Amino acid sequence: MRKRLTGSRLAMPVALCLLACLWAPVSGDSQATQQGQASEEKGKTLEREEKSQELGLDRMLKKIHWLGHASFRIEGETTVYFDPFRLKKGAAAADVICVSHSHSDHCSPEDIKLIQKKETVLVTTSDCVKKLSGEVVTVKPGDTLTVKGLKIQVVPAYNTNKKFHPRDKGWVGFVVTVEGQRVYHTGDTDFIPEMKKLDVDVALLPVSGTYVMTAEEAAQAAKAIAPRLAIPMHYGTIVGDEKDALTFKEKSGVRVEILRRETR
Ligand SMILES: [Zn+2]
Repeated sequence: MRKRLTGSRLAMPVALCLLACLWAPVSGDSQATQQGQASEEKGKTLEREEKSQELGLDRMLKKIHWLGHASFRIEGETTVYFDPFRLKKGAAAADVICVSHSHSDHCSPEDIKLIQKKETVLVTTSDCVKKLSGEVVTVKPGDTLTVKGLKIQVVPAYNTNKKFHPRDKGWVGFVVTVEGQRVYHTGDTDFIPEMKKLDVDVALLPVSGTYVMTAEEAAQAAKAIAPRLAIPMHYGTIVGDEKDALTFKEKSGVRVEILRRETR
């Protein structure tokens, strides 16, 4: 009885040790394999996410129409215009129109009339509102709102080294989320510190100089904002030309698409 007891007492640690010795390498390998599989899966998921984001971005790019100067139409489920100006007759009707400030090349009542339906919502600053009729929402920098299902963040726009757009006017730019993509229309502005805090997918940046950023300054702004795509604007009408757009593309360090101006 004693022998058997002693034997079993001895046998137990030996068996445990053997089990542990056998278990340890198997367990280590298995953990490493599991970790490897997990990181591979994570990598694939990230790759898939990146691909789908890029696809989303390319889809969005097709929906963005540059109408000259600072004027754009985004044709998604909701048709959004920014600063409609010198539109041709027959331009598509708008669901939402965002107007950055009261200067006549941005706040243009005759252009707005061309695309305004009864149910169109205008989003603009108080000094532009005075020139318009219909359903108008007055905004100022710092506001966030949802219009026709679109989330709109209203951001400041002003000059830092010229006098045309003083900060105290309360003029604006917009970050509008269209089908999951955050599109930033800066309005008339220089490169301002507030841009560094923005999280956007697409940035529409002025490049002409004179009243707004130069192409070089816009390139600095693009570096700071780091959008996934930048599109130059505010050239080819009144001030600036295609050379500014090309300089911007060359120096900005982000993906840049120079859009062909559409005639309507
Ligand atoms: Zn202006």
